[in-house]
Amino acid sequence: MKEVKNPKKPLAYYYSITLIALLLFNIFVAPLLNRQHVEQTDYSTFMRMIAEKKIGKVDVSDTEIIFTDKDDNTIYVTGVMYDPTLTQRLYDSGAEFAKDIEQTMSPVLSYLLTLILPLVIFVIFGQFMRKKLMDQMGGKDVMSFGMGKSNAKIYVQSTHGIRFDDVAGEDEAKESLAEIVDYLHNPSKYTDAGASMPKGILLVGPPGTGKTMLAKAVAGESNVPFFSISGSEFVEMFVGMGASKVRDLFSQAKEKAPCIVFIDEIDAIGQKRSGGGQYGGNDEREQTLNQLLTEMDGFEDNSGVIILAATNRPESLDPALTRPGRFDRRVPVELPDLKGREEILKVHARKIKVAEDVDFSVVARMASGASGAELANIVNEAALRAVRDGRKLVTQADLEESIETVIAGYQKKNAILTDKEKWIVSYHEIGHALVAARQTHSAPVQKITIIPRTSGALGYTMQVEEGNHYLMNKEEIENKIATLTGGRAAEEVVFGSITTGASNDIEQATKLARAMLTRYGMSKEFGMVALETVTNQYLGGDASLACSPETQTKIDQLVVEQVEKAHQKALDILQNDRAKLDELAKYLHEKETITGEEFMRILNG
Ligand code: ADP
Repeated sequence: MKEVKNPKKPLAYYYSITLIALLLFNIFVAPLLNRQHVEQTDYSTFMRMIAEKKIGKVDVSDTEIIFTDKDDNTIYVTGVMYDPTLTQRLYDSGAEFAKDIEQTMSPVLSYLLTLILPLVIFVIFGQFMRKKLMDQMGGKDVMSFGMGKSNAKIYVQSTHGIRFDDVAGEDEAKESLAEIVDYLHNPSKYTDAGASMPKGILLVGPPGTGKTMLAKAVAGESNVPFFSISGSEFVEMFVGMGASKVRDLFSQAKEKAPCIVFIDEIDAIGQKRSGGGQYGGNDEREQTLNQLLTEMDGFEDNSGVIILAATNRPESLDPALTRPGRFDRRVPVELPDLKGREEILKVHARKIKVAEDVDFSVVARMASGASGAELANIVNEAALRAVRDGRKLVTQADLEESIETVIAGYQKKNAILTDKEKWIVSYHEIGHALVAARQTHSAPVQKITIIPRTSGALGYTMQVEEGNHYLMNKEEIENKIATLTGGRAAEEVVFGSITTGASNDIEQATKLARAMLTRYGMSKEFGMVALETVTNQYLGGDASLACSPETQTKIDQLVVEQVEKAHQKALDILQNDRAKLDELAKYLHEKETITGEEFMRILNG
């Protein structure tokens, strides 16, 4: 889509300056321009030329004498002297008495020079200055008098518009939005039936899942203008400015209806308002929010302005914003599932050349949990890797390596582990893999590596689910915790000492064990009681405790027990399978990276 700048004209101020400058130009500069071709000369040259009969035309005034050279038509000017016989001498020399000799310039040229040229110069100069100042002020238009004008960008529909086809996966969201597109194409179908479109639609989901893209696609599909502004842009330094920006945005939108207004990060202004008008409340934000609510109530149901907003913190929005008549339709834009991931990879792979060995379903399975933006990034990283190696085609290996890059950071080329450390890391990783393999319901191992990463990981074991996985039962979670403790358990079994390498495993295991008790209702002690509530589900899912201090103590205790139980299980598995543990660790130590197939081959025989 082609983006054009704010359509606001440089205002009266700018034009009046141009006008004044024009006047000054006409008074002082234009006459000089006209006379540029007139040459000054002295009186004696003039007298000599008369004597030599070289004067063509002449115009004698009180202050100057203008004359032309008969041969080359050069125009001269000289001063006036007391010369009573001048007229006679001129007449005798055959000179032609003429007025306005210096107006030899063609009238068109003269007009262009005196009127159009300065106008053009000033317009260009004015625009240049305005752009410079705008850049300095961070994109704000200094010439528009109202500082509170919104900087909403208008995306004028062009043939390169984003369409629904460009947004892969997200079928439910697209289906919901298709109705809006249909309405914008054919509003009478809806109005005739007495139906009215929702005024506001809230796209909710984690970052990078394509919310902005979907909003653009709605505009692209319906061929209507697209206003886009981010919630944070409304929050201004001065109180009242945000509100005036909202007003301005809506008045622009109403002019351009039917159109789409897209407010990204609406939580920046739409957060729940604080109780009383106490000091320290965020007045500016509240005023902006109030203005938004007023505007939304103000326009007719079928005015053709559809407001889309995106947020990844829906729970923090003010209830007034989500009540019927405002953002009353909520479209979830979730992380893509296996099929969705494959489609997104394919959409982005249209831009690159892929080798024949590439299997996007395998890549999609490996990139479990990745968002659309991350998948786009994976494809791009793979293409960059191919370029670095001087290849034109992107291979399966490029894609797999780039998943690891996105998950675990770049390979750290010069991190040198001592041999002892390398053994510890080998055993640690095989510990995870072996514990996983010896339990039921564990995702198969895809790859094990002990090549250090820039993220700090010294090695890792990648497990990949076979298909989509939405539910986990209690046994699966317990097994997962045991797998996480498997690394540390292997160190204990083999070396009899422990290292710092397990910190990330410990964190994850604790989180899972805790969630079992406080959120999933999987403990005898608390049963189905929610002891924690998730505050921002789409941003890492922070949880806040909602229980008494005694209960908290009890939870902590039970978490310790739960993890310890899993740890013990891992220790048992590894002790019973010591021979395989050694064999596999030796193999990994030697190869540094092994595939799931190699792992299974050694394990089975
Ligand atoms: P959000 O607004 O949800 O944070 P964006 O719409 O800005 O995410 O997406 C960021 C980028 O990620 C897009 O420009 C696109 O390249 C990629 N992307 C995200 N989701 C999808 C999808 N479903 N299909 C194709 N590309 C996607």
